[in-house]
Amino acid sequence: MSYLGRFAPSPSGPLHAGSLVAALASYLDARAHHGRWLLRIEDIDEARTVPGAAEDIIQALAAMGMRSDAEIVWQSARKERYESAFKKLASWTYPCACSRKEIADSRINFGADGAAIYPGTCRAGLAAGREARAWRLRVPDAGDAAGVITFEDRWQGRITETLASSVGDFVLKRADGFWAYQLAVVVDDAEQGVTDVVRGADLQDSTARQIYLQGLLKLPVPRYLHVPVVTNAAGEKLSKQTCAQALDLSQPVHELMMAAHRLGLELKPAQMTVQDFWEAAVPAWARRFV
Ligand code: GLU
Repeated sequence: MSYLGRFAPSPSGPLHAGSLVAALASYLDARAHHGRWLLRIEDIDEARTVPGAAEDIIQALAAMGMRSDAEIVWQSARKERYESAFKKLASWTYPCACSRKEIADSRINFGADGAAIYPGTCRAGLAAGREARAWRLRVPDAGDAAGVITFEDRWQGRITETLASSVGDFVLKRADGFWAYQLAVVVDDAEQGVTDVVRGADLQDSTARQIYLQGLLKLPVPRYLHVPVVTNAAGEKLSKQTCAQALDLSQPVHELMMAAHRLGLELKPAQMTVQDFWEAAVPAWARRFV
């Protein structure tokens, strides 16, 4: 099967050192496999989308030599596809009236990503007088093997997650009417024919949900590789929220070298041009991961 990889940024701000590491890893993996690499703009969460951010990301990637091998896909233009997948899932979905606060106040456990595990309040139907806010997917009960998801992560090793105890029934259609990331990403990866998902380990906890959805929708399961998340001196994930600095695009080789170093690639500091960088970095990645 020919390799197809992708980088799928959410345009909530410019590319920064953390997201560059994910972009670089996905691009290196595609090139090391002599595969193709796609760019997909995940602007489905319109509340978080910053005007102009997608264009800035595309430009920053191009300055560093990363260009999509096919036309760039924008999730905001693909809503009917998410709607149609959602309809196929009808026998497993239900409307939910709970607010975030009500779920947090139910004092049940928190999942690995820090979000409260849904206690199942609306599973058996909405209570009288309550109105649907979001739509959730029913996951198998604790103890049901169908809800235990195991996958081989090419960086992290074997990962097993039990949906009932890590997230519970999860949202597919949000209270604000937008499609949830989990649904959109599964629909798009399958439709684009993505064979390999390479991204930051902050999304590792989402993978079990995505594999479960792929199973219900009868879609192929790609291979996964999650690269360690870049943190700042305080140990926080670099992101717009932790004020990660924008990249210095006047020094693309320097930025690429820093990102490669964060991936543990040993490159001699003599790379002068962006092209020199790729000529050294692709074989270095291939020696480790191909
Ligand atoms: N859009 C997601 C993000 O920027 C990444 C999606 C993915 O790689 O699966 O966090």
